[in-house]
Amino acid sequence: MSDCIFCKIAKHEIPCDAVYEDDDFLAFRDINPVAPTHVLLIPKQHVSSLLDEGAKAEMLGRMTALVPKLAEQLGIAADGFRLVVNTGKEGGQTVHHLHFHILGGRSLQWPPG
Ligand code: 5GP
Ligand code: ZN
Repeated sequence: MSDCIFCKIAKHEIPCDAVYEDDDFLAFRDINPVAPTHVLLIPKQHVSSLLDEGAKAEMLGRMTALVPKLAEQLGIAADGFRLVVNTGKEGGQTVHHLHFHILGGRSLQWPPG
């Protein structure tokens, strides 16, 4: 997707504050953090959302398994964190490239506002 901002970040065409990278995934700090730690985890391959048929179970499993490792690395595992996957219009998704929000570093309320 040539006009997708997260594809451009994945290809290092747009800079980001990366915290983790491997062949298939990239994690970087959100440009507009809503918690002291706010990291986005994306597949490098363009998948528009959880509803995309490209969102395969095997990929989602590996992506999800990275979350506790990242939480440890970011220092938010001990006190806990929130994993958010906004999906579609009513889910509040604004960037149409699948991403996990990993939020921590303060006490988060539920339900969110
Ligand atoms: P969504 O609302 O789609 O779930 O979340 C998109 C997130 O991407 C937002 O939290 C927004 O701040 C973040 N974001 C949008 N553009 C950029 C960017 O260019 N760089 C970074 N680091 N984050 C971005
Ligand atoms: Zn993309």
